[in-house]
Amino acid sequence: MISRNHRPDNHTADPGAITESAREVPIAGEYDVIICGGGTSGFPAAIAAARQGARVAVIERYGFLGGVPAYSIMPAWHGLKVHHSGLLTEFARRVVEFGQGPDPLANNHVEPETVKQLFLVMALEVGVEIHLHTLIVGAVKEGNAVRAIVTESKSGRRAFAAKAFVDATGDGDLAFHAGAGYMKGRDGKVQAMSLRFRIGHIDFDRYFDWVKWHPQYYGKNTIAGLDELRRKARAGEDFFMQGDLADLFREYPDADLPTQSYFNVSSIRPGELSVNGTRLHGVDGTVEEDLTRAEITCRKQAYALWRFLRARVPGFERSLIVDIPAQVGVRETRCIIGDYVLMEADCRANRRFPDAVMTTRLAFDLHDVDRYIMETIKGTVDVPYGCFVVRGLEGLLVAGRTLSCDHVANSTIRKMETAFQSGQVAGTAAGLAALRGVTPRALPVAALQETLLRDGLKINQDYRSPDIGTPGYHARVYEPTPATTGRA
Ligand SMILES: Cc1cc2nc3c(=O)[nH]c(=O)nc-3n(C[C@H](O)[C@H](O)[C@H](O)COP(=O)(O)OP(=O)(O)OC[C@H]3O[C@@H](n4cnc5c(N)ncnc54)[C@H](O)[C@@H]3O)c2cc1C
Repeated sequence: MISRNHRPDNHTADPGAITESAREVPIAGEYDVIICGGGTSGFPAAIAAARQGARVAVIERYGFLGGVPAYSIMPAWHGLKVHHSGLLTEFARRVVEFGQGPDPLANNHVEPETVKQLFLVMALEVGVEIHLHTLIVGAVKEGNAVRAIVTESKSGRRAFAAKAFVDATGDGDLAFHAGAGYMKGRDGKVQAMSLRFRIGHIDFDRYFDWVKWHPQYYGKNTIAGLDELRRKARAGEDFFMQGDLADLFREYPDADLPTQSYFNVSSIRPGELSVNGTRLHGVDGTVEEDLTRAEITCRKQAYALWRFLRARVPGFERSLIVDIPAQVGVRETRCIIGDYVLMEADCRANRRFPDAVMTTRLAFDLHDVDRYIMETIKGTVDVPYGCFVVRGLEGLLVAGRTLSCDHVANSTIRKMETAFQSGQVAGTAAGLAALRGVTPRALPVAALQETLLRDGLKINQDYRSPDIGTPGYHARVYEPTPATTGRA
């Protein structure tokens, strides 16, 4: 029986609310550790927890594991080749052995289909139980301790219980349902969303002939560099290229073109470009209506961009869009507040912490509310264990882009190689805590650090790669293109 609760002021606009009747929810499984989300940070978390000897389940909403590098077809793991350790190094080697797509340690690229398959294969190898097509919609607590998650799937509403949980959903969904505090962006505004897409059947020879005569659109690349890219394209090798097509955009009167003209592309398959070029500001990845608007707008932008390339840029005449991914890419939503909040100032000071469990490379990549800022500073910063432990709750750790940090620190924490390594930390901590019968907060950090070091993770700046970071400092800012501002 459904009864409608009319709000006192509900006459027209607000349809009010309904009360669901209480019901019993079956417990579908009990584990030592549950990893919520099988993406960039959830996969290593699952492997790491299982390798401590824990019984582990991964709960994932899609029909495959992988997260952004898979569902958002994001092949560019920028920074991987200089900032990798532990499980990430092992994963990169497995990618090479797998033999599909480029070598990540050479050029930072990983083929999205390889991510999907290897995440699955490696998780099954260590005995992780995988639940796909399962959306986490709630948390069950006893006092402040998280005891179970509530899920929805084709099997209905079910609960899964565990001794420790890792929230690796990117959005901090479980932490949110459990009542954790969180921050979102700066002044309530988060980074833009982008829908990547792939264009195939490009005549790279014609394209690079044109590029050579129009280097103004590819400012960061020298002529020699562009020649090298052309050689790679010819040889079918992978390459990455940054461009800014602002001047061309101004001439092209298509209202659906993206609001900014930066044109970053990766080529990991012969004759194809994976394009990072669409964007929509002012949308929140935890609001259904915003996600819907982003899908619609960014799809329009993708087709407008492709039509523009086909009409204006040699080499694209016979091209076609070969793939638009399962969902729009969400860069930033909730950062869950942990026992420590990593701040921009910590990053800029290359701060060290005694309870450091990993480091992050300092490449601030802010697709900001009104312009795009890319800033790289030398070195790394320690990330303390407190960033993983959710403030005010027991039994719950976070990993990935939802780690406890401010807006600017998040712009570097969210990078894939860092998100991945954070998964190893959270999974190891959850596994150790569950098996010792303590909460993650009560786990001695020294024991965690020792285990992570044994498993190859660079836990603080003493272990960073000598070649990390650019010498000195550079900043790159893309202003909005006047002709296209405000179109999305
Ligand atoms: C457009 C775009 C471009 C980017 N470019 C780069 C780049 O060039 N280089 C770089 O290093 N990084 C880049 N990033 C950032 C990086 O890809 C992400 O920040 C990182 O992958 C996030 O990892 P994660 O583990 O936190 O989340 P994800 O990888 O998104 O994993 C979260 C997982 O949880 C699942 N999930 C979510 N909610 C639920 C739920 N309620 N129930 C069940 N499952 C759920 C998801 O399906 C997913 O599998 C980019 C991101 C975007 C969106």
